[in-house]
Amino acid sequence: MSNKPQLIIRMGSHAEKEYIMKLNHKVFDGIVIGANVVEATAGATASLIGKKLNLPYYIDPMTYVFGCDLDGIKSEQKKMIQGKKKTVRDYKRSYLGLADELGYVFVNALKTDTCIQPDIFNPATIKRTCQNVIEYQRNRIVEEFKKDEEYEEYADAIKPPAGIFSPYFYVNNRRSFELFLELAHATTIIETNLPVYSVLCADVNSLNDESFIEKVLEEVPKTGIYGVWLWFSKFDEFESNMKTLRNFKNLVHGLSKNGLAVFNRHGGYFSMVLNKLGMTGISHGIGYGEKKDVFQIEGPPNAPVVQYYLPDLFKRFGIDNIERCFDELGVTKPQHFHNSICDCVICKGVIKNNISEFREFGETHYARLESKRETQTPAAAKRSRFHFLMNRIKEKNFINKSNLKEIIEKMQESQEKWEDLDSVIHFNYLDNWINSLN
Ligand SMILES: [Zn+2]
Repeated sequence: MSNKPQLIIRMGSHAEKEYIMKLNHKVFDGIVIGANVVEATAGATASLIGKKLNLPYYIDPMTYVFGCDLDGIKSEQKKMIQGKKKTVRDYKRSYLGLADELGYVFVNALKTDTCIQPDIFNPATIKRTCQNVIEYQRNRIVEEFKKDEEYEEYADAIKPPAGIFSPYFYVNNRRSFELFLELAHATTIIETNLPVYSVLCADVNSLNDESFIEKVLEEVPKTGIYGVWLWFSKFDEFESNMKTLRNFKNLVHGLSKNGLAVFNRHGGYFSMVLNKLGMTGISHGIGYGEKKDVFQIEGPPNAPVVQYYLPDLFKRFGIDNIERCFDELGVTKPQHFHNSICDCVICKGVIKNNISEFREFGETHYARLESKRETQTPAAAKRSRFHFLMNRIKEKNFINKSNLKEIIEKMQESQEKWEDLDSVIHFNYLDNWINSLN
């Protein structure tokens, strides 16, 4: 297993293909696509994974969704009912399709409008569910190719995924934790070729429950899985207190010491630094998704502003706030900006003649004639995303070649540099990071 921190990009929609194609293996070590995205855009996903991209891929079976409030996977749809067009709230087609693929347990949940409960599983349903979920990840892309005459011949050349996820559900009590272990173990019995992963998906408060952490450290390695993806709902590296961060660190360290590959399904710089203590890798979206609430299945309806990622402080901030720091930092010319804030290719291209060009990262417009408020232009959002990704690769390389002491020293340097500006740019999380890493 390579020690270099892996960055697995989570593709939320095909609109993000541009970033993924352009940066490819230069930035990413793999791509993970949710099965709902696969179902919504099967042809495009198959073509991306099977032909265009040459990256290791994972398909997240998203089974947990069927154990949550099922209203989260419904939408308003126009349907013909008794000859009349009506708007009804019904399951999204992608999840209906996914349920069909994953089998009876999932189909039945939607049919009866009842989320999946752990007590419906017995050894036979566990086995069948694991078989279906493995089969789905192994074959869904290949089958899509076979449907298309033009591409049929390539189907057999498609590489299998980089790993197989066991079915997983939200863990919030003893029985759901046992089910998590049973599903993980049953998957390893059936899938003997590819590495098997499970997703440990629980509330962020479980990180402060010592008996839970102990059980995880004791029981998960016994399942025989190759690795575990941690997902503590709403766990936020910037907002968490020192105790939570330290418990998270100890959990990662403990699991990796027991021989498991450990990923944070939604993590940022702090999680990537934990690479020095056993974290194999992190995943997140293109400029978002470094934390995620399990129960908010779909993202917010309107794309939020893509803020500017401040490399010194490993976090995104508003353009206005950063600009207000220029005087104090002595940034009056592009050269100063490149020395003091960022010298990535994007920033060098945008800020050439005058530091006021920095505003191009926050450029706004009226998106539509009837828009009441200005929103960020797509070009500005794109600049901000590319700038962020350029920095993430730098961070990955820095972490790879540095030891923990050097990484902490860099955080301390940032603290000193921005200390006088913390009324404009808040970064009290750095103290927690440094203390919890020590
Ligand atoms: Zn930059």
